[in-house]
Amino acid sequence: MMEYQKILDLPKQTVDKNKSFITKLKRKKANSIDDMFHEKHEEVFEDIDCLKCGNCCKTTSPIFREIDIKRIAKKQKMKAVDFIETYLRIDTDGDYVLQTSPCAFLDQEDNSCTIYDYRPLACEGYPHTNRKNMYQILDLTLKNTEICPAVARIVTELEKATNMDRPKPRTQDGRG
Ligand code: SF4
Ligand code: SF4
Repeated sequence: MMEYQKILDLPKQTVDKNKSFITKLKRKKANSIDDMFHEKHEEVFEDIDCLKCGNCCKTTSPIFREIDIKRIAKKQKMKAVDFIETYLRIDTDGDYVLQTSPCAFLDQEDNSCTIYDYRPLACEGYPHTNRKNMYQILDLTLKNTEICPAVARIVTELEKATNMDRPKPRTQDGRG
């Protein structure tokens, strides 16, 4: 059982709030949201240890670009075609992805990546919450709240923080 499963089990109310938060973010100026994501990313990853999780490698596949395939196959002393034949398939978007999950390169004893130094770029960047132009991947980020406990925490905490910033509506009798 993944150590951080509890973080992923967000109550429905939180899931709904996060969804509308992401929708609101889409209306903001394109590059105005990067800083808040990056700051929260640093904060959350001080607490969450990927080696105690591994959920991304266990449940989803990165995209393998041709350059990734060539590099990894070479290191594995395999021909690229054999590497593809053994590990990859083409998904509905036409990208190379893993045939099976968990990833064949995940050491399930300690959640380490056995090809860490030459892993696909997509793995290197995951969960993509510290990259530039976050506005381009808001839907993906919302989806990742179901996979990555760090993303679940980042989005939930950002939603809460922006909610607190907003002035509370006054009640009818004006006592606030
Ligand atoms: S290549 Fe490594 S980092 Fe990428 S999914 Fe597989 S185990 Fe995880
Ligand atoms: S990136 Fe997210 S899902 Fe992947 S191991 Fe780290 S915390 Fe877990």
